[in-house]
Amino acid sequence: MNIQRIKDLPPLPQRAPDSHKGSCGKVLIIAGSPGMSGAACLAGMGALRGGSGLVFVATPAAIQSIVASVNPCYLTIPLELDSDSQLTSESTAHLLDQLPGFDAVAIGPGCGQHPWVRDLTVQLYSELEQTLIVDADALNSLAALETPLPDAAGPRILTPHPGEFSRLTNVSIKDISADRETHAIQFAQKHQVVLVLKGAGTIVTDGTQLAVNQTGNAGMATGGTGDVLTGLTTSLAGQGMSPFDAAQLGVYLHGLAGDFAADDLSQPAMIAADLLDYIPDAWRELI
Ligand code: AMP
Ligand code: MG
Repeated sequence: MNIQRIKDLPPLPQRAPDSHKGSCGKVLIIAGSPGMSGAACLAGMGALRGGSGLVFVATPAAIQSIVASVNPCYLTIPLELDSDSQLTSESTAHLLDQLPGFDAVAIGPGCGQHPWVRDLTVQLYSELEQTLIVDADALNSLAALETPLPDAAGPRILTPHPGEFSRLTNVSIKDISADRETHAIQFAQKHQVVLVLKGAGTIVTDGTQLAVNQTGNAGMATGGTGDVLTGLTTSLAGQGMSPFDAAQLGVYLHGLAGDFAADDLSQPAMIAADLLDYIPDAWRELI
């Protein structure tokens, strides 16, 4: 198959003068677990900085108040878990009821590998009609399935780092690193998804188009940067961008924010939360 190499960035989402929060995309980020509340916050704030009109963060009830207290601009939804680490039936019904109102949904950052994460990931992967961004422990949940990936009811963007991609494909990190493009393209073709294979020169491919990102730096090799990317990409998908375009632009802006952070703060000192402060500068380069 001929692969189209994409060099140019896609058109940005338009923000009309009469926009309101209901017209700029409403997104849901399912993230966090006790000990990893920061991932939910970083992803939620990444979505806010991406331009979403409304950002909801669904997180285990035990950490909802922590997540909510970090930033006043996103809303939170408590996920009630039972003693088997499953969502209670009331909590599941409440969440599923709200799903049709979202323009894009993400699952995974900091969720841990719990039964509720596995079951909700599989359910959303197979049933959600909107774009679903699958990251981190949601990817690990898919990798742990004894069955192949479920058929998807809508567009899917998978954002593995090499370790997560290795678990998904059963190919060693060494073999993946030897030919990242081919492995990424083949996976995207086989599963009909947009694959974002992260790392230096992040690859974005839907199996027919391929973009190799040129922004970003080694200062981004620090915990939490991927969570910011998940939020940002979800936000762009929720503003109506195609899954490939949202992933390409999200990766570009995220890396550019990282480059600005490194310029001001140095690669060793920059941390994931700094990316949030430099996303505005990254936007300004494009607007
Ligand atoms: P995660 O491992 O999920 O936290 O994601 C790490 C994020 O930082 C991804 O977006 C990577 O592409 C980015 N990143 C990590 N290391 C580098 C690097 N050496 N150069 C450029 N980007 C990087
Ligand atoms: Mg990650």
